[in-house]
Amino acid sequence: MTAKILDGNALAQKLRADFKTRATVLTAQGMRPGLAVILVGDDPASQVYVRNKVNACLQAGIHSEKIGYPPDVDQRTVLDKIAELNADPRIHGILVQLPLPRHFDSDAVLEAISPTKDVDGFHAENVGALMQGNPRFIPCTPYGVMKFFADAGIELKGKEAVVLGRSNIVGKPMAMLLMQASATVTVCHSQTRDLAFHTRRADILVAALGKAKFVTAEMVKPGAVVIDVGINRLPDGKLCGDVDFGPVSEIAAAITPVPGGVGPMTITMLLANTLEAAEREAGR
Ligand code: NDP
Repeated sequence: MTAKILDGNALAQKLRADFKTRATVLTAQGMRPGLAVILVGDDPASQVYVRNKVNACLQAGIHSEKIGYPPDVDQRTVLDKIAELNADPRIHGILVQLPLPRHFDSDAVLEAISPTKDVDGFHAENVGALMQGNPRFIPCTPYGVMKFFADAGIELKGKEAVVLGRSNIVGKPMAMLLMQASATVTVCHSQTRDLAFHTRRADILVAALGKAKFVTAEMVKPGAVVIDVGINRLPDGKLCGDVDFGPVSEIAAAITPVPGGVGPMTITMLLANTLEAAEREAGR
């Protein structure tokens, strides 16, 4: 079997088709959607992610502001800025690019964002709402993954879903969404014994570990749907995922590539969340 490639660029384009119209309608009502992105430090990968987010906003007709700080900025300065953005009517979404430098209390920073502007969905109030099955903002990466399933008509009900990774950003919300879609979910992490035992049972396998080519063909059930969230840089500078794409694509039913899979969908869902925030604010 050769897997169907779940093309994140194509799906992102399809979903973004009406974003510009939605932004134009809001702008005509005096409510141009706006996203503020806070970047602390000079991590090259974070700079690329922030640039991509700002450019994507531009293309969708969403106002965006990048607020950069040197790595040694004190937390109070950032918290004051967040308070200012919380009160700014031109801003509907606020995002703090992670990771923050070590001297920051990341939880305190994320909790300072108004839950109504928390387009990443990381605020405890939004995490709780997601857990209760009544989300206000779904974290962008797992939200994007769910769109792959919907677009490709992949049934989740009753399926064995295995999520590799338990981070607050990807693993945990992913597991929650799969469970809410009536899959039977197993979450694996660095302390899981016999990981391959679990992965080989998976009809749906989501890899979010941050370990290059960790998931080999021997770990995958033939016919599984494999979603590769990982982004890793190889010594030759090329990007690769957490899945050994070539051999696994020989046995899987469907698979996302890296790059061009989950990555473009994460940014797309950030735009979607920002538009939804502005539409809510406009009372639509
Ligand atoms: P974290 O480092 O926060 O979490 C990694 C998780 O993987 C942890 O739960 C960890 O377990 C688990 N893990 C690590 N090693 C192993 C192992 N050998 N066996 C089993 N589990 C293991 O990463 P993130 O969730 O933030 O990101 C994961 C990957 O996804 C990264 O490559 C990141 O770059 C990428 N990413 C991609 C996005 C996209 O848009 N495509 C967006 C966000 C992230 P434990 O908890 O026990 O430590």
